[in-house]
Amino acid sequence: MLSGLPEDIAVLTLPTPFPVGDVNCYLIKGDVPTLVDTGPATAEARQALEEGLRREGLGLSDLRQVVLTHAHVDHYGQAAMLQDAGATLLAHPHATDPVAEPESYRQWRREFYERFYREAGLGREATVLAGRYDLMTRRWARPARVDRQVDDGQEIVAGNSTWQVLYLPGHSVTQIGLYRERDRVLVAGDHLLAHISSNAFIEPVPGSPDRPRSLLTYRLSLMRLLGLDVDVVLPGHGRRVVDHVELVKRRLSFHEERAELIRRQIQSHASTAAELVHAVFPHLKPDAVALAISEIVGHLDLLVERGLVAATPTGDTVTYHATRDERGGMPGHTHHDEAAF
Ligand SMILES: [Zn+2]
Repeated sequence: MLSGLPEDIAVLTLPTPFPVGDVNCYLIKGDVPTLVDTGPATAEARQALEEGLRREGLGLSDLRQVVLTHAHVDHYGQAAMLQDAGATLLAHPHATDPVAEPESYRQWRREFYERFYREAGLGREATVLAGRYDLMTRRWARPARVDRQVDDGQEIVAGNSTWQVLYLPGHSVTQIGLYRERDRVLVAGDHLLAHISSNAFIEPVPGSPDRPRSLLTYRLSLMRLLGLDVDVVLPGHGRRVVDHVELVKRRLSFHEERAELIRRQIQSHASTAAELVHAVFPHLKPDAVALAISEIVGHLDLLVERGLVAATPTGDTVTYHATRDERGGMPGHTHHDEAAF
């Protein structure tokens, strides 16, 4: 197997109502028929799933296991339905609450996002945007119970073989991959996509009050792939990846370029994340604001980490400014507000 799909794996491509388009679910065939990811809870996705399984001679109730690569609705929406049909549900421990969505978790997540969006400078819009996540999960997923939590380094049996679980946080704090050493296959969810740079989506880490620095975490998880012997990456969307090292390097340098663009923007005037969103993505659609905020704040975290930008809280908002001028001068010299910190 050089670049094709291993013989014991079938890809079931299901429609989603999201801009990302179809989602790839993988059927690992054998004694323990396993589905990796489920598609959203829509009639269209269910029909496509049933048809895909039928082509492989299976029905919904033949699935013994469902593994979730991460807790985003396009990947877990139909999990509860498949559990009802008899499958055991496996996911990372951090996926437990997002997938089950107890009211206490919803409330905590809403508060996290409201605080985060206010910090980003969205003002009253923050409340609306924070509530939107709830509406989305209610509409496209049915809550499900994770039966078995799996974490980095653990092994699971799927089909007829053993797979190693890799914890790859960044795109989501719940993101895992499944790696099979025998033929160097990595089922990667949205960790690495061929056609787009994955968003390092800022989401709360269950049990932690701190906002994660998702892009920094994501870059570490990407670098981890550089040291992994992989022939083919089976991604959550789009085509298979056969040269993962080259693609990872491209993604890492894309982050550098975008960070530099943002740094220059801040150099000309101190800005909130929301102001930078408008500067970097002038034609942004309203439903993409949450992703764009994650994108900008992630790159700001990178600049702050490198000491090129500083973050100053003002009330419940955070303003970012450059710490040195274009000539690489001393911190603060080009800004009269340096006294603020
Ligand atoms: Zn996805």
